[in-house]
Amino acid sequence: MEEILCRKPDMVALSAVYSSQAFYGYALLKELKKKNIKTILGGPAVNKKLREVASLTLNNEVELLEEITGVKIDHATLWTKEVLDFSILEKKSLPPEKKQEYLYFTPEMVLPLRTSISCYYQQCTFCTHHAGKQYRELSLQEMKESILASGAKKVFFIDDMIHKKRLLEIAKILGPLQVSWICQLRPMKDLDAETLMALHDGGLKAVIWGLESGSDRILQLMKKGTNIADAQIVLKNSAAAGIKNCLYILFGFPTETREEFKETLNFIRKQKEITSLVLSTIFGLQHGAPILADLEPYGITQVDFKERTMLEPKISYQVKSGLTQDEATALRKRYKKFLNSFPYPSAMNFFREHILCVE
Ligand code: SF4
Repeated sequence: MEEILCRKPDMVALSAVYSSQAFYGYALLKELKKKNIKTILGGPAVNKKLREVASLTLNNEVELLEEITGVKIDHATLWTKEVLDFSILEKKSLPPEKKQEYLYFTPEMVLPLRTSISCYYQQCTFCTHHAGKQYRELSLQEMKESILASGAKKVFFIDDMIHKKRLLEIAKILGPLQVSWICQLRPMKDLDAETLMALHDGGLKAVIWGLESGSDRILQLMKKGTNIADAQIVLKNSAAAGIKNCLYILFGFPTETREEFKETLNFIRKQKEITSLVLSTIFGLQHGAPILADLEPYGITQVDFKERTMLEPKISYQVKSGLTQDEATALRKRYKKFLNSFPYPSAMNFFREHILCVE
């Protein structure tokens, strides 16, 4: 609160990205309300409790910009004609006595930027990220100007997905600027050796791949649009191009068997030499996921909602076949040592921007 209040804000905008943020987010919003400071809330982890205590909840960055500037922005093109101001992260420009004001959580400036809204694919049955929002691309010229204005040399693209053509455009812009970047992609065949080389030349240092599973049956059930054979080739070519591979793994998808769980482990094991980090999680039914609207193909027989004090109701379920959530959790625990045995420390699961701060 002190850090917020000393800036004498007219309004405070909070972004709730993970549900764990609801607890301190709620406390901050309540205190700010007591002090009659307007609060604006946004982000994928906004819930009823947070909404109740915030002055205003908005859906996206464009609405936030409209609220702040009072200027109507063209939602169709999302041309804001503004350069983003990241000067608060600028460590070098601070005089020595103000060094403690550099409060960002990475040792160097890593800009969190997005080049698109929502996901162009929108098919994965477990995904709650796009929430059916229309896919839109932001101006790459604005992205370039924001980076130049900030002086940053590292960018974490937080886009849910970026397609090949756009990746190459980004590489063409950022390569000459000597900017290092990281993004999240699906391991798709179109990302061939030549493309990955061009992306690396254009500054791409690491990719967090949405691999999810080492079983083709599970990938099909997830409607991930990928397959293991292609993924293996992409990872190999990516590493050969000099790009660090990080893998998102989703264990315990409904109907996943113990053998399929182990298939995933074996797949990861085979990629050990060319993988820098494994980011694994256990599947959970979430509001807004397509799977929740059509349970039958996933063998889900019963869904229960349990009210919680701060978070949205917890959704639990029963499955006809395959591992239960508890069994998947226990199995992951058993292999924790292996899953954490990759070169990047497991803490990077939570502080992914640091991937750009290591050699
Ligand atoms: S998981 Fe990724 S690729 Fe799949 S729909 Fe969600 S954002 Fe798109």
